[in-house]
Amino acid sequence: MTMRAVFPGTFDPIHFGHIDIARRGCALFDDLVIAVYDRPLKSLLFSPDERMELVRTAFEDDDNITVQGYRTLTVSFCTSINAQVLLRGLRVFSDFEHEFRMALANRRLAPEIDTVSLITSEKHTFLNSTTVREVASLEGDVSSMVPDFVQKALDEKLSQTRASEKEVYNSLRD
Ligand code: ADP
Repeated sequence: MTMRAVFPGTFDPIHFGHIDIARRGCALFDDLVIAVYDRPLKSLLFSPDERMELVRTAFEDDDNITVQGYRTLTVSFCTSINAQVLLRGLRVFSDFEHEFRMALANRRLAPEIDTVSLITSEKHTFLNSTTVREVASLEGDVSSMVPDFVQKALDEKLSQTRASEKEVYNSLRD
C-alpha cells in the first residue's frame, strides 16, 4: 500500500520552516501533496495561484512532492485524493493547543486519517509567514527566512501595493 500524506496550509508565502517540514515529511511517506488552502479566515498578501506557484517552484526538484489547491474541509480533500496522513509542523508551545484541537476535530470527522506532527528545526522556531510579510513590508532583510524567488515575489507584490496606496493617497489629496 502506498502511503500518501497531505501537508496543508496557507503558505502566504512559503518559507524555510515549511520547506524543512515538507522535506523531512516526504522522507517518511511514498508521496507528499502540499495542499494550498484557497480561502483562509485571514487576510492574504498573495492570491491562491501565486501561493501555489511559489510552492511549486520550491519543490520543482523533489520527485515525490506535488502541489494542489483546495477549498473544502482538509479531511475531505485528503479523502478525495486517497491520503491516509495529515502532516503538520509544530513550532513553539503556543502552536500545540491549536494543533491538538485541530487534530482531534479532524479525527472525529475522519477517523481513518491520522495526523503526524513534526517538531520544527530549532532555527525555524519563530518563523511564520506573518513575520515574513511584516519584515518584507518594512523593507527588512528576509534572506534567512525565504528562498530568493520568494524574496523577489515579495518585492514585486509590495511595490505594487505601495504604488496603489500612493495613488489612493494622491487622489484623496487632490
Ligand atoms: P504560517 O503559520 O507560517 O502562516 P501556514 O498556515 O501556511 O503557516 O502553516 C502550514 C503548516 O506549516 C502548519 O502545520 C504550520 O504549523 C507549519 N509551519 C509553519 N511555520 C513553521 C515553522 N517555522 N516550523 C515548522 N512548521 C511550520
